[in-house]
Amino acid sequence: MRVPLIAGNWKMNTTSAQAKALIQDLKIRIKTLKGIEVLVCPPFPYLALVSKLLEGTSIGLGAQNLFWEKEGAFTGEVSARMLCDVGCRHAILGHSERRQHMGETDPMISRKIRQAFDADLLPIVCVGETLPQRESGSTRKVVGEQIRGCFAGLTPAQMEKTVIAYEPVWAIGTGRTATSQQAEEIHKFIRDWLQEAFGDETARTVRILYGGSVKPENADSLMAEQDIDGFLVGGASLSAGSFALIAEAAGNRIHN
Ligand code: PEP
Repeated sequence: MRVPLIAGNWKMNTTSAQAKALIQDLKIRIKTLKGIEVLVCPPFPYLALVSKLLEGTSIGLGAQNLFWEKEGAFTGEVSARMLCDVGCRHAILGHSERRQHMGETDPMISRKIRQAFDADLLPIVCVGETLPQRESGSTRKVVGEQIRGCFAGLTPAQMEKTVIAYEPVWAIGTGRTATSQQAEEIHKFIRDWLQEAFGDETARTVRILYGGSVKPENADSLMAEQDIDGFLVGGASLSAGSFALIAEAAGNRIHN
């Protein structure tokens, strides 16, 4: 059974006061979590604050990135161990905004995944095609290269703990969501690859999230698809009301 996961990616948003208010509001709206997992991924400077505010709740904490080395002379970078130290359980890796603006590549993301596992952090690894790639019919080729590049060499046990987020780049922050069928087609493609590369059990276990303009209005229909196991939510996670409604939609369905 795959427990739906709803992760909120706050990106480079909020002040400490806004972060505090958002968590307080979320705590009121998400009192008990029935059969789902929810986590928020604030910017680095607010992780410790949010970690403290989340104490005693079942809402988890994640980071938006980490560095591929353990420690040392890497000015401005943050290690997996530091993130664990402030209470993170997950880290988003390979988000398309980092691939686009920071030049992150699959080999870099693969090294970050290894660092995450070394520190007992669970990676949420983002993959997805751009609009020109979709329009030229290369979505499967692009996503196939990303998953092979990021996950090659992982053990089945590591793969099973990894969360994959399929996020078509053209749907991120654009208000343009993939249809449920478009999303399911690629989720199924990813699950089929997992089966080929790691076997039945791993393919059945790995959670594959959809991300890209998820809102309360489209969460139900996306969640109805067999291979969609939750969401990575950007913009809508900055509203406690919207984020809680999306979590509720995910809780209405548990995939076997
Ligand atoms: C994201 O940042 O991962 C994302 C999916 O953003 P949005 O929900 O705003 O499209």
